[in-house]
Amino acid sequence: MNRSKIKTGVYVCHCGTNIAATVDVSNVAEFARSLDTVVLSRDYTYMCSDPGQDLIKKDIQEHGLNRVVVASCSPLMHEPTFRRACQEAGLNPFFVQMANIREHCSWVIDDRQQATNKAKSMVTAAVQRVRRHSALTMRQVEMTPSALVVGGGIAGIESALKLADAGKKVYLVEREASIGGHMSQLYKTFPTLDCAA
Ligand code: SF4
Repeated sequence: MNRSKIKTGVYVCHCGTNIAATVDVSNVAEFARSLDTVVLSRDYTYMCSDPGQDLIKKDIQEHGLNRVVVASCSPLMHEPTFRRACQEAGLNPFFVQMANIREHCSWVIDDRQQATNKAKSMVTAAVQRVRRHSALTMRQVEMTPSALVVGGGIAGIESALKLADAGKKVYLVEREASIGGHMSQLYKTFPTLDCAA
């Protein structure tokens, strides 16, 4: 897509006071408006709430946004939420980029000015990144749900058991004659004095 046609919306979340107590969210939102491709920017109390998501959907439809940046928490937590919101508004869900200004910023920086500056840098990076995104489509492929674990030491055994508990077929490979690794050579383990074997 031609860069001049990219229209990015930036949404800065307060997360109640989780972010807003440390980061000057309105200042970050105002700063975002000065960034190339950004056509609008807002701050809102709880972006993942229904009204928060509706803000994004409405803006996509009314302002023709084709890129969305949400500055909030970890993408592990809410990237699927915001991708879904964009999809429901007709935008490819992969045109969303999150900036984690909570776990990576407000929760680990005490100084308000420093935290606000870092949040601005993170939003700038996210805006730069999202304009390079391409529209992607999800597809399903058949796969064999099995795993190979190399090494039958304590870590290998534990991994194999966890995978097996999750329903995967596991192949555990060990070059020695028996499994257990260094652990099996110990007589007793501290503090329970259990037999290591
Ligand atoms: S989007 Fe994340 S940071 Fe914002 S309110 Fe929800 S949980 Fe908190």
